[in-house]
Amino acid sequence: MNILIMGGPGAGKGTMSARIVEKFNVNHISTGDIFRSEIGNGTELGLKAKDYMDKGMLVPDELVNNMVKSYLENLEDKKNGYLLDGYPRTLDQAKAFDELSKNSDLAIDKVIAMDIAFEVLAGRITGRRLCKNCGEIYHLQSKPPKVEGKCDVCGGELYQRKDDTVESLTVRLDEYSKQTAPVLDYYEEQGIVTKINADQPIENVWNDVLNALEK
Ligand code: AMP
Repeated sequence: MNILIMGGPGAGKGTMSARIVEKFNVNHISTGDIFRSEIGNGTELGLKAKDYMDKGMLVPDELVNNMVKSYLENLEDKKNGYLLDGYPRTLDQAKAFDELSKNSDLAIDKVIAMDIAFEVLAGRITGRRLCKNCGEIYHLQSKPPKVEGKCDVCGGELYQRKDDTVESLTVRLDEYSKQTAPVLDYYEEQGIVTKINADQPIENVWNDVLNALEK
């Protein structure tokens, strides 16, 4: 099954994505994660993306489209399909991905849209912390680590993403409503979207996601 998960920053996409990947054994393709790893490795692509990312702006379409294309072409193990996370984020990306995937087994089957009021997001985003080592996600209020600043899973150091600040969030939310809302409309017209209420306890959100994917 090929799944696309959509949702504004802080909607809980990362948490649900990890569960979906584990449950359905699909390839996780997160463009944000790929960019972060390219930046960490100091590659040319990472250098090009970094300025945009630090400001919370979208990386230009052409750069992202080419990256996803080569990533998909070079997948070692096709597993049971993929989970696209953070892409397509603009209408042009959605159309480019359609071109790439039509008439192939790469077409998107289901879209999960994490629905949440923008006001709820600011609190979620600014309290988010990640483990430097294993990527586990915490929240200072709703999921604090047992020991401050340390990962419960591996003991790694926790950090705050550079773009998880109020200033950057404002830009990201603005980008999201301007650029990404039309992408949701685009897939809604194709009748493949299930909207999930993301402002509920994690287990309830997960139940709704499972129902949507298993039906
Ligand atoms: P994310 O981890 O999905 O929140 O992505 C973090 C940042 O990476 C975004 O704010 C953008 O700067 C960049 N990025 C990730 N995916 C895309 C995309 N599909 N199009 C443009 N920029 C992206």
